[in-house]
Amino acid sequence: MRYLGFDAYEKSIHTTGSSVVFMAREGDEIVIICVPKAGAPEPLGFTGQDLGDGRLRVPLTHENAGVLRKHFPFTAPVRGLQRDRSFGVGDRLGIATPGHIQVFETCDVFPVFAQQSIRELNLTGRTYEDVLDAVSFAVFKEGFTKGFGADGDHLKTVKDVEYALSLGFSMITLDCSDYIKPEDADPSPLSQTYRDKYLNKAFILGEGITLSFTEKELQQSIGVYAEAIGFARDIYARFFKDRRYEADFEISIDETSTPTTPLQHFFVAQELMDAGVSFATLAPRFCGEFQKGIDYRGDAAQFEAEIKIHGVIARHFGYKLSIHSGSDKFSVFPSIGRETQGVFHVKTAGTNWLEAMRVVALADPGLYREVHCYALAVFEEAAAYYHVTPDLARIPPVDSLTDGEVPGLLDHPDARQLIHITYGLILNKKNPDGSYTFKDRLYRLWRSHEGLYAERLAAHIGKHLTLLGVEKS
Ligand SMILES: [Zn+2]
Repeated sequence: MRYLGFDAYEKSIHTTGSSVVFMAREGDEIVIICVPKAGAPEPLGFTGQDLGDGRLRVPLTHENAGVLRKHFPFTAPVRGLQRDRSFGVGDRLGIATPGHIQVFETCDVFPVFAQQSIRELNLTGRTYEDVLDAVSFAVFKEGFTKGFGADGDHLKTVKDVEYALSLGFSMITLDCSDYIKPEDADPSPLSQTYRDKYLNKAFILGEGITLSFTEKELQQSIGVYAEAIGFARDIYARFFKDRRYEADFEISIDETSTPTTPLQHFFVAQELMDAGVSFATLAPRFCGEFQKGIDYRGDAAQFEAEIKIHGVIARHFGYKLSIHSGSDKFSVFPSIGRETQGVFHVKTAGTNWLEAMRVVALADPGLYREVHCYALAVFEEAAAYYHVTPDLARIPPVDSLTDGEVPGLLDHPDARQLIHITYGLILNKKNPDGSYTFKDRLYRLWRSHEGLYAERLAAHIGKHLTLLGVEKS
């Protein structure tokens, strides 16, 4: 809309003190505009270009994002995992939040719009500053005032946890995998303390579930998880105890070679509780395969039987189950919704990248073909970072498809995985002259198809929420 002489985003028009602050499009660029309502301009602290009459044109820099968060607190992340339902979407490219907002505007689910692992930062060449700022600007532009979270996802070191918390991230997902031992690791003899605590006992969790350990099961639980528990305890003491930082704490034990049995889950939780570690969510590794970007693979009946007990354990101790790699797990969403009794945290990450590539396939099939061929060429390299098992031979040759058929590749499980994991290499591919081969063209296309992208994302994430049993509010 035209507003005060600018191409303004209508929902971004806000006032603070004696100024009107909004976002406007100028060609390819989006900027913030500050206009005094009357009298002298108010010193808000933005750095920008003086347009005369007290008006200021503010570029979207990190410093200005900080000023925005100060004057408009809804653009800063807040804790929200205590809500029954929370859902992490992340925004790998920094362009997905408007589409995500369309979904979360209309349902009672706390959204975690900023969510990135260090691996994703490295592969996309972004920083946590940039990830958070992109979300703050998007939330301001869309006028989303319901609150959102920012998750420093899968952090493994003190340094990374400190980095995310110092920027105001509202959630930390501690990845304990470096401290989780394989199940066949040499078992040390059981200490008397553990024996007294766990053996010959029935742990009554309620809801008809009682657990008990054999000596071997106990030994295995200790062998696999004792060091990981120690790591979580140290991080908790350093950052969260005495509310040093106001952030939600998630314990992730999902990136391991073997699934977390319900008994092991119970053991980890019991030990953490006894050590005084309080956390919002815990992510076990479920049975079967939660591969990126495709539906659940494995024994659905076993999954259902086990998540039932995982759900009871979480309720017994008073935290939520967190389900990672949750994108596209349509066949098991109904049992997740049911067995958690609608109390869960679900994370998806790369699915918004796949929808972005669907927009490319729809709007510019030629560009999609180029990217697809490159992805095939670098698949092996990308597979070092992710556990996926596509059969590339099953993907129809992209050159044999008509333009109209190209978008259908994004419904093909093997093609989805191919594109899913090669994003870093695709975005970073450079020409001999140093310019980006794809990145700039892709971003230009996404910018000019903002509406289509938001629509696709809203439909796709909306389907996740519906199957999880979330009703529109
Ligand atoms: Zn995970």
